[in-house]
Amino acid sequence: MPETTPENLVTQTWTQPFDSPRSCPESADIVIIGGGIIGVSTAWFLAKQGINVVLCEKGHIAGEQSGRNWGWIRQQGRDTREMPMIVESLKIWRGLEKEIGEDVGFAETGCLYAARTNKQLDKYAEWVKTAVEYGLDTRVISTDELDRYAQASSGNWCGALYTASDGRAEPHKAVPAIARAAVREGVTLLSSCAVRGIESSAGRVSAVITEHGAIRSSVVLCAAGAWTSVFCRSIGITVPQLKVRGTVTRTAPAPNILEGCLFDDKIAIRRRQDGGYTAVNGMLLDHPVTPSTFRFGTKFLRAFMLDPAGMRLSLGREFIEEWNTPSTWDLDAETIFDRTRVLDPEPDPRVVASIRRNLDDVFPQLAGIDIVESWAGMIEATPDAIPVIGEAANYAGFFIATGFSGHGFGIGPGAAKAIAGMLTGNDSGIDLKEFRLSRFSDGTPIRPQSSV
Ligand SMILES: Cc1cc2nc3c(=O)[nH]c(=O)nc-3n(C[C@H](O)[C@H](O)[C@H](O)COP(=O)(O)OP(=O)(O)OC[C@H]3O[C@@H](n4cnc5c(N)ncnc54)[C@H](O)[C@@H]3O)c2cc1C
Repeated sequence: MPETTPENLVTQTWTQPFDSPRSCPESADIVIIGGGIIGVSTAWFLAKQGINVVLCEKGHIAGEQSGRNWGWIRQQGRDTREMPMIVESLKIWRGLEKEIGEDVGFAETGCLYAARTNKQLDKYAEWVKTAVEYGLDTRVISTDELDRYAQASSGNWCGALYTASDGRAEPHKAVPAIARAAVREGVTLLSSCAVRGIESSAGRVSAVITEHGAIRSSVVLCAAGAWTSVFCRSIGITVPQLKVRGTVTRTAPAPNILEGCLFDDKIAIRRRQDGGYTAVNGMLLDHPVTPSTFRFGTKFLRAFMLDPAGMRLSLGREFIEEWNTPSTWDLDAETIFDRTRVLDPEPDPRVVASIRRNLDDVFPQLAGIDIVESWAGMIEATPDAIPVIGEAANYAGFFIATGFSGHGFGIGPGAAKAIAGMLTGNDSGIDLKEFRLSRFSDGTPIRPQSSV
């Protein structure tokens, strides 16, 4: 295994065994670090233009955030700076299955933010102005209409924000399917292939050093998700990034009380293609405190203050692990990337218990339905909760695409189209200047927008 071919890249989960690549190409036009939705979709866009791409993934395709997320594809509630990208992304999602000839579980089934108070509804209603600006169909709906989309609930809601053109997809299907499409277009996909660092010459990146050898390239994209900050630190680039653990569950097939996605203070659920629901408590996240918390904490204060009640702090092994991680290392020896094939945090049993309680409470028809699986994922966030996309100032040819802050699955294909444009110098029609890394160091005010 990999070099991966379309035939042998089966649907991946994070429990599959690891097999080393048989060979490692000597060079590529572009090397991508990271096989999440950002890496594989960018590879796909590039390969369609005939560019020779090698993608290195230390574990499995979609083994981390991209295979563990809720599967919401939402325009609703987005930061205005992400709007052009998410609108483009929805267009890509709508045509994706036809274009790649595979099922990704996409359905345009709408997104609902249900409000329990008029104050909350008024806050949601504010976002309609953004929707109008971008030509979306978002509107505030009454309880009667809400009851038609989310049946027989006991939510005691007073209305909802609703975007019918929002969608959902199955992360564990979609990302490997895009990876297979990329391979069919000619991408060399090396999984179980950790990138340990880069080499440069005269201020320009010249190669990536993997655990299986060097790959010469003058253009490298770091799409390493939660690992970006530690990777970039080793080459002298500061990327302020913190991690937040989200616990997720899925139910057995259950009565169809909702086709799309619904967020409420107690429960957030999405109908799954398999007839069950992905169910979470969107108000219960925890941030494992690490040395990075102290390094970057002040930059994150404004984001934290937007919803202090929703975030628990925990102190555990993550602190020791990060404390023991050196900031630079020998590229000839095993690194943290070789050792940690997949970041696989434990789901929080207290959160699973709250999901069980709240699901039964808000949707009596689902009371007692089996929760057949629970897992967790480490969301990586930036101080303003929008991504970093751009070229590093001190290494020409080294580009970063990270920090999708808990909403990179839906926007992934649109972001990837824009990133591919950035890497090739072609205009994708999406302006990326708001996403430059230097915004965190050039005095630009950090402005997380309220996440409705
Ligand atoms: C619990 C949870 C729920 C979420 N819900 C949603 C949702 O409903 N909708 C939505 O839009 N988004 C959601 N997100 C966010 C979304 O999943 C992420 O923003 C998105 O998947 C990020 O994609 P990525 O490719 O940047 O990173 P990842 O998917 O994390 O991929 C990065 C990859 O890089 C690899 N890597 C790292 N370092 C190296 C190295 N040195 N060498 C080789 N490989 C390396 C990693 O192994 C990893 O596979 C959620 C996330 C979580 C965790």
